[in-house]
Amino acid sequence: MSNDKFREESLQYHKARNEFDTNGKIGTLITKPCDTEKELSMAYSPGVAYPCLEIEKDEEAAYEYTNKGNLVAVISDGTAVLGLGDIGHLAGKPVMEGKAVLFKTFANVDAVDIEINTKDTDEIIETVARIADSFGGVNLEDISAPRCFEIEARLKEICNVPVFHDDQHGTAVITTAGLINVLEMTGKKPEDLKVVVIGAGASGIACARMYKQLGVKNITMLDSKGVIHSGRTDLNKYKQEFAFDTPDRTLEDAMKGADMVLGLSGPDLIKPEWVKTMSKESPIIFACANPNPEIKPELAKEARPDIIIGTGRSDYPNQVNNVLGFPQIFRGALDVRATRITENMKMAASKALAALAKEPVPEHVKKAQGRETMEFGPDYIIPSPFDRRVLVYVASAVAQAAVEDGVARVKEFDLDAYKAKLQR
Ligand code: NAP
Ligand code: MG
Repeated sequence: MSNDKFREESLQYHKARNEFDTNGKIGTLITKPCDTEKELSMAYSPGVAYPCLEIEKDEEAAYEYTNKGNLVAVISDGTAVLGLGDIGHLAGKPVMEGKAVLFKTFANVDAVDIEINTKDTDEIIETVARIADSFGGVNLEDISAPRCFEIEARLKEICNVPVFHDDQHGTAVITTAGLINVLEMTGKKPEDLKVVVIGAGASGIACARMYKQLGVKNITMLDSKGVIHSGRTDLNKYKQEFAFDTPDRTLEDAMKGADMVLGLSGPDLIKPEWVKTMSKESPIIFACANPNPEIKPELAKEARPDIIIGTGRSDYPNQVNNVLGFPQIFRGALDVRATRITENMKMAASKALAALAKEPVPEHVKKAQGRETMEFGPDYIIPSPFDRRVLVYVASAVAQAAVEDGVARVKEFDLDAYKAKLQR
């Protein structure tokens, strides 16, 4: 399909389809009848006062009498929208509405997009902090680095509900799942890996932090100026976290002997000849720059037929797609009324995704992916977004980890019963 045709179709998709439809992608679904005098007087005044008074007595009751427990705010300032950059808060609205579509489609989580008209870190924090109680969780989206780190960290301290920056942690959870499976396939150990992370922005920093948690010790990170080493004086504190004493200065240097290269930077930065210099045994590349990866899989495979490669794209195997993470992670967190999303909850999500990729793949998934075979191996290390079991695996693992970490507000949690509920 030509780009012009796709553009036209996409613009049309966003408009009302007929006179009963509305513009945009989301609306409000009323879940209680309001057809009689009595129902009207309960939906609103005077009957609505009773739940109000219950919540006044005990804020927990908001989970019983309002939609708080199934509602996520998708919040952006429009500073790092897709690959489009700083396009402004309102221009980012179609993306945030889209995020709500994915929340609902993949995990039945209701979501509302909120575009904030400021780029000031304190103002964003204050705005979100003041509205967070209306929601069961806050998904920060497309807020540029390094501001996103401070905004998330401070909001996590202030808010009593999970705050999760998907561009960071969704990506980290999914690439970690892929890494866990590659380690299993190759018999390599995290502590022996040499990992190169291209990109020291929102996703690169978050992935590298999660790899450290997995036990990876040797990480070389690069930004647009080259290798992040301890001699550099231009590094922000998040990049400094990864600075170390190394003679490597370029990507070419860093890739020599690397077991894994994770690209979260820009298109076509990896030359095929550098791929040849990677570890002799089963090298891995996740080239996630969107829409064009750091190296095309066919070029990487030509250079090293034994390479295991994933990208952000759906037209190649091993797609690193955040839709495998954020809807299901919030589902699990909401269902136990979690106060936050902990490191263990994220790692549980990665392990659940990794485990699911080892299960036989149902026919409907192969059909949706347009593939005849999908078996655990170099071309299938991460589950498909169309695999309905992702919700059961990830949400239940996250909920269980929340209970274990003591951040769940629910008093009782039965894992098997919860899994059965998710399957319905
Ligand atoms: P970001 O916060 O803007 O970070 C981009 C990083 O890439 C920056 O640290 C930048 O360096 C670095 N960079 C740019 N050009 C480079 C070069 N030539 N060599 C080395 N590093 C370079 O962006 P992000 O949100 O982390 O996303 C990065 C990319 O990954 C985007 O293409 C995004 O679409 C993609 N992504 C994909 C997925 C997915 O597939 N699931 C998920 C998340 C992100 P400076 O710090 O020096 O500017
Ligand atoms: Mg995003």
